[in-house]
Amino acid sequence: MHRPLRLTLDRGALAQNWRWLQERAGVPAGAAVKANGYGLGAREAAATLLAAGCRTFFVSTYAEAIELGPLGEDVSLVVLHGIGADEMEAAAQSTARPVLNSVAQVHRWKEIAPTRACDVMVDTGMNRLGLRTEEIAVLDGLAIDTVHSHLACADEDSPMNGQQLQRFREVAAELPAKCYSLANSAGICLGLDYSFGLVRPGLALYGGVPRREAEGHIRQVARIETQIVQRRTIRVGESCGYGATFVAGRDTEAAIVNLGYADGYLRGFSARGSDFAGEFALPVLGRVSMDLVALGCDIAADLKEGDWVEINYDLPTVSAASGLSQYELLTVLGSRFERRWVD
Ligand SMILES: *Cc1c(COP(=O)(O)O)cnc(C)c1O
Repeated sequence: MHRPLRLTLDRGALAQNWRWLQERAGVPAGAAVKANGYGLGAREAAATLLAAGCRTFFVSTYAEAIELGPLGEDVSLVVLHGIGADEMEAAAQSTARPVLNSVAQVHRWKEIAPTRACDVMVDTGMNRLGLRTEEIAVLDGLAIDTVHSHLACADEDSPMNGQQLQRFREVAAELPAKCYSLANSAGICLGLDYSFGLVRPGLALYGGVPRREAEGHIRQVARIETQIVQRRTIRVGESCGYGATFVAGRDTEAAIVNLGYADGYLRGFSARGSDFAGEFALPVLGRVSMDLVALGCDIAADLKEGDWVEINYDLPTVSAASGLSQYELLTVLGSRFERRWVD
């Protein structure tokens, strides 16, 4: 069935972003494919990164691990949220490694598979998930593959980065494991001190630019195109859209396109998003509706019903314009897109 809205996903850009992050880190890079690969498609993203050489994948929950399916024998699938009380069975049956985040989760793993390899999260200041440093004695006897911690402020120049690095070094000295891992996408940009044995990028794989050090190196992965439903003239003095927030100061040409907040093009783009048709930048007129957006197209005389228009979805610039985070811009994308992976 034809869909008038499509998301084109660039495998080459995804693989290239992963390679740049791994090179920058100087150690193996895994890939966070949680939240359905940041909204773009976890299976396709994982297959692409697997072919590029990635050997460690991170999901949030066992449900996501099961949806992703098997990745191959020499590949690690790691469940960041560990084992909830209702996930004992899933954890016992899965070949994925849990990240043990609390004393209760450690006890669950000891019940399920005390000798099988697991990962551990140790909190160094984020206070979200992870054992406190004074709790790590509970890990005695476990076969720990990787000890993780997570940076709270890596996308900013915060003194907290250095403090967490120092604390994590102390943890690493105390807690024997095969591997240690601290850095997400932004953490990789902070420098080699943050690399340890494995890095865990997510956002930057999918085209997000977490810090200025990554500018010019990260390629856009997701492109949005939408088809024009109707072209019309809004006469001087007339309004357009809900709330009549746009009033034409002169006769204004508008292209009404198949895109709206139900697709993740949120109302925050009203009167500020900018879309492209070929070389033209077309402003959003008035409010974004659930299924439609009006674009001013005075400068595009030939644009007509049925033509495709590219939406500006360059994550750093669109984030700055909309006030939404680059993470939100990816993960809000809805289910009405035709998703096309291209090489
Ligand atoms: C999501 C996540 C990542 C990836 O973070 P990005 O900022 O998207 O690179 C890394 N580590 C943990 C623990 C995460 O939850």
